[in-house]
Amino acid sequence: MLSMQQKHIYNEIEGTTLQNWQDWKWQVRHSIRDLERFEKLLNIKVPQKIRDAYESISAKFPMSITPYYLSLINTEDIKNDPIFKQSFPVIDELRVLKTDMSDPLSEDRDSPVPGITHRYPDRVLFLVSNTCAMYCRHCTRKRRVGDVDSIPGKKQIMKGIEYIRNTPQIRDVLLSGGDPFLLSDDYLDWILTELRKIEHIEIIRIGTRTPVVLPFRITNELIEMLKKHQPLWINTHFNHPREITATSRKALRMLADAGFPLGNQSVLLAGVNDCPRIMKSLVHKLAYNRVRPYYLYQCDLSEGLSHFRTPVGKGIEILESLIGHTSGFCVPTYVIDAPGGGGKIPVMPNYLISWSTNKVILRNYEGVISTYKEPDSYEPTFCDRDCDNCDKYLQLEDAEEYKAVGIEKLLADYDDAISLVPANNPRYKRRK
Ligand SMILES: *Cc1c(COP(=O)(O)O)cnc(C)c1O
Repeated sequence: MLSMQQKHIYNEIEGTTLQNWQDWKWQVRHSIRDLERFEKLLNIKVPQKIRDAYESISAKFPMSITPYYLSLINTEDIKNDPIFKQSFPVIDELRVLKTDMSDPLSEDRDSPVPGITHRYPDRVLFLVSNTCAMYCRHCTRKRRVGDVDSIPGKKQIMKGIEYIRNTPQIRDVLLSGGDPFLLSDDYLDWILTELRKIEHIEIIRIGTRTPVVLPFRITNELIEMLKKHQPLWINTHFNHPREITATSRKALRMLADAGFPLGNQSVLLAGVNDCPRIMKSLVHKLAYNRVRPYYLYQCDLSEGLSHFRTPVGKGIEILESLIGHTSGFCVPTYVIDAPGGGGKIPVMPNYLISWSTNKVILRNYEGVISTYKEPDSYEPTFCDRDCDNCDKYLQLEDAEEYKAVGIEKLLADYDDAISLVPANNPRYKRRK
């Protein structure tokens, strides 16, 4: 079922059929990239001030919105609409503060080969696509948005794969971009197949915003292809409860039913989701759709994002409203991605309020103050990594699981039990 607004958009785009509307390639081809079409399809006139600024901003940071995502904009209250704010260029994007940077996370500097950022010991970020379904106004890689908009060629991808192959400490590869799901099924299949050939790669993660801005991308064919490459974790990027629609729910259901663990990374955005009520509703809706809130990001110091930034205290206030108040797995980790390439640093309200040598004083989410008595004696183990002489149980292989029980135990040739006796058998008790 299409909404009234979707029907209007749909009627305004020539040659649309319902089948087209649900075809992700059609959605991408018909993305809205200019002001006239934006106004025509939404049947509105944007205020003159916004019009005047549009040209200069879109020349530096282009606009692109899928017809589907456009259809979610609430035209009755466009100024405050979270969908509009995430997709439409505004003059503030040209304001660059002295403290802003084009590559605040040093992703380009911490890069051994093009497309790879190797920051943490055992995992890498691998940018395999330069294209997105929609250009998010808050993109941390704003420096790159729209600049080439092409798919990195097989040669470049091969170099990344080569690096991963030659670096055995990597066990986890995060595919990002751009959006990896903007690649064709075949091309992504090729990348995943190449990565799966590498023995030390345990898990592959895909970061994609398509369930939010292009849910039709989640097709049965895509899912069947992805299933060949398990274990695969998929992280998406919902920022506001309004982004969860019947269509995006369906996309999430298809992914979850196929067995991919789903996570969500939100960015804390002034005017969009900097509110404990909005965030609580978002995390509840996500969990209900089997998506685990994973990270809540403090907005990066990228150029052109200053109007989206909140003080760190806003994030802490949001966590304060979630921790203890709702299911533990609904609470994302709030992180600041450290400028200069320090990586993600978690930030939390303080729950440990004091400490002595044998007691800690804690407070809970309600403000109740408790003490936890620590052990009177604890023998610290001197550890010089001489594991052979340590009495901790260091066998880390899977435990042997199969042990016959009950009648099965009596029947088994390999077990020499001859009887099963109830624990309190009186006859046994009388025995000497
Ligand atoms: C976020 C990120 C990762 C993954 O970090 P996790 O905490 O494991 O999710 C890896 N590499 C880079 C460069 C990143 O920015």
